[in-house]
Amino acid sequence: MTEEAGHIRRAVLVLASILTILVVYLYLDVWFYVQAQPPLVREKPAEPTLVPTEPLEIPLFPNLKFKSIVRTKGVYSYERMIEHLQALVDQYELLSVDIIGESVERRAIYLVKLGQGEKKILLDGAHHGSEWISSFLLMTMIEHYAYHYHTGQPFYGYDLRELLSTYTLYIVPMVNPDGVEIVATNGRGSLSYDSLLAMNGGSRDFTLWKANARGVDLNRQYPTNWHLAQNYGPPQPASANYAGSKPLTEPEVIAMERLHQQEGFSAHLTYHSVGNEVFYYYYQTGRWLERDRSLAQAVANHTGYRLRHSSGGIGGMARDHVVTTYQIPSLIIELGTNKPRPLPEFNDMWKRNRQVPCLVMTWLKQWEEP
Ligand SMILES: [Zn+2]
Repeated sequence: MTEEAGHIRRAVLVLASILTILVVYLYLDVWFYVQAQPPLVREKPAEPTLVPTEPLEIPLFPNLKFKSIVRTKGVYSYERMIEHLQALVDQYELLSVDIIGESVERRAIYLVKLGQGEKKILLDGAHHGSEWISSFLLMTMIEHYAYHYHTGQPFYGYDLRELLSTYTLYIVPMVNPDGVEIVATNGRGSLSYDSLLAMNGGSRDFTLWKANARGVDLNRQYPTNWHLAQNYGPPQPASANYAGSKPLTEPEVIAMERLHQQEGFSAHLTYHSVGNEVFYYYYQTGRWLERDRSLAQAVANHTGYRLRHSSGGIGGMARDHVVTTYQIPSLIIELGTNKPRPLPEFNDMWKRNRQVPCLVMTWLKQWEEP
């Protein structure tokens, strides 16, 4: 038996040796094979095949009744705007409402979106509290645009369903809700009446209050040439023109700047009052200037507002920053002539301005694809 066991052991050893040699041979073979390969070249990913995108199927709601939700008899307050936003989203399925940030006194800053286009246009109102008529104008616009988009009816000759398949309107109707509430409640709706009183130079009349609740002027808070706004304005918090201790300290402006950064808008319309004027210029040159000037001219012609070729400001303004940083057209639209009592002028204001976003979308389309 021992002799037999010896044979088996020898046979196993021989087999194991053969296996080892085989494994080493295979390994070396693969190694030499790999070494012989040319260095790896990263292959380019295949180009995606371009399928022409079908126009999105936008549901039609032909039987909707226009409800005239957005109304006001006095200052268009933050509270009223919230009620109307709620009623509007209940009525119009395709309207979306988001919150992009909070004010100093923790009021929400609302963003309304309408459309399914890939390109985006931003409209904002009430950077300045006393200019609440711009919020009322934008909310009125939201209701009319939503209605015509849902029912498919033309809006003064414009096909909103077609325009809003290329563009989406982003609307922030009230950038400065605290400022508007200070005006709407004559200071009483604010958390600290005494400090407001001090910032208002002791006056108990808050009709012309522009700043936010900390006395910072939100349209002097943007980074572009902010130091000029700082030198120009008062050195401490006030009802208007104080630029803050540095740019982008106020939550309302941070929310707006973040929105610009995230969304990459094609154009920006920023509404103020008063003057019946359109501003667009902030040191653009060449074709860039040509584009912005001709768009502004078209808006001025349509509204009957005066086109202003000067920058009309000092720096730190939204327009200054948007033109310089994002290099898109940014128009300041100054509504009306009577700042403390704008409502009697509202019908005229609405007539002049209701088609402006349609005009801007149409104009941009033509400019981009002549
Ligand atoms: Zn203003």
